[in-house]
Amino acid sequence: MAKHSMFINGEWVDSVSGETFQDKNPADGTLFAEVPKANLEDADRALEAAFNARSVWANTDPGERARVLYKASALLLERQKEFADVLIGEGGAMFGKAMFETGYVADLLHTAGEDCRRILGETFPSSHGKIGMTIYRPLGTVVAISPWNFPLLLSCNKVSYALAAGNTVILKPASETPVIGLKIAELFEAAGLPAGVLNVITGPGGLLGDKLIEDPRSDLISFTGETLTGRKIGAKAGENLKKFTLELGGKDPMIILADADVDYAVNAAAFGAFMHQGQICMSVERIIVAESIVEEFAGKLAAKAKTLTVGDPTQPTTIIGPLINDDQIETVHAHVQDAAAKGAAILSGGKYEGRFYEPTVLSGVTRDMRIFKEETFGPVAPIIAVKDEKEALEVANDTEYGLSSGVITNDLQKAVFLAENLESGMVHINDSSLYDDPYCPFGGCKSSGIGREGGRRSMEEMSELKWITIHKGDRQFPF
Ligand code: NAD
Repeated sequence: MAKHSMFINGEWVDSVSGETFQDKNPADGTLFAEVPKANLEDADRALEAAFNARSVWANTDPGERARVLYKASALLLERQKEFADVLIGEGGAMFGKAMFETGYVADLLHTAGEDCRRILGETFPSSHGKIGMTIYRPLGTVVAISPWNFPLLLSCNKVSYALAAGNTVILKPASETPVIGLKIAELFEAAGLPAGVLNVITGPGGLLGDKLIEDPRSDLISFTGETLTGRKIGAKAGENLKKFTLELGGKDPMIILADADVDYAVNAAAFGAFMHQGQICMSVERIIVAESIVEEFAGKLAAKAKTLTVGDPTQPTTIIGPLINDDQIETVHAHVQDAAAKGAAILSGGKYEGRFYEPTVLSGVTRDMRIFKEETFGPVAPIIAVKDEKEALEVANDTEYGLSSGVITNDLQKAVFLAENLESGMVHINDSSLYDDPYCPFGGCKSSGIGREGGRRSMEEMSELKWITIHKGDRQFPF
């Protein structure tokens, strides 16, 4: 078991109070690490450090910022296994997910480096004797608050682009996965980031979050997590007239139309619903299938689910690792039992041992069931039968959420109809809802969030847009 320190102003420090909290391995409940439990004084130190480092980093040449991001990317690849072990040990990632996440983040850091020089303003036609232009300036300090499910990726989505845009950062990782947040600090320290530009504090979200949002030394709150938490953060940021972006929960639909290749649809649905035990905001949480193929599809998906190895996440052959905690096990099981009580058939799974929930396929799911409405965040594939694409659309949009969607059809007209009318921030044709790219605009509508992350959209969200004019000669004033 390792004891860790936090990273404030370029130094590794304990919390002012000396208090710590325990970070447990979700697979077996053993102690993974002990980390500092930051309080308001620690948050204040991080805010001060980030505030004082602003001008240094804002005035650092974009090429130099890019070099730091490229270096961090290269170092992550060198240390990939070490980072993957943390994702497995504290996050319950199976080996394949941990290797994917670390590799993706190396690409993300590199992409953010490329974007350092690509934040382009506009010029406007001369009007009333002026030349007009826009430039992007760093906002100041970005507060990044991230969840436990893809903790390296979702923290680095924020940290990388905040740094690329010339901001200083305070990262508050989730209390289930604090060590990976501290590892990000190690990476940037080794990459040569100046002291105070990135600070990482670990501790209770509510207490630290309130302070970081209310304090005048922070400028943008970039949050990924549950919708309920996002509402609180949005309200508090609004009260303080502070910019914020929210990446929240989902109940993502995957629509499979009658012409689909059923075997392909089964593979896409299994990946979308079961990857990382379904604990992804863009996991497939409702599979909406044309009634002419639903029986064949459900049977094949259940057969595939039964072949997926459940167990020790360190083993490369494991597909289904542990859920993050006992509360998640309770929620997932309650959703499955509620569906069964209301008439759904359990075609596979429906049982658990410890934190390991079997990949579960439910058919005959209807809209009155909890599993239709509430985010499950577990390895469950609920199947709903529909007549055609019009009914599929109506069922898919019957949710408060609107993050991502998948559509499987070879009918171009129907694919375009669905892509245009699905109420979600992202639609993937010929795939499930589970897909991301570092340079594409990621984000949702309805209760799934406000704002977009990725590439140019992150650079814009994390910058201040400024309009500048230059008057040619003297302006003529009316009095
Ligand atoms: P969570 O909301 O419980 O916690 C997220 C972070 O917020 C943690 O760091 C936590 O400490 C902090 N926090 C908690 N209360 C806070 C408060 N009052 N003020 C400020 N910070 C606070 O979410 P989670 O359980 O860690 O993550 C799972 C959720 O995240 C799911 O709902 C999932 O759909 C969502 N998620 C969304 C996306 C996306 O991009 N849309 C990606 C991944 C996860």
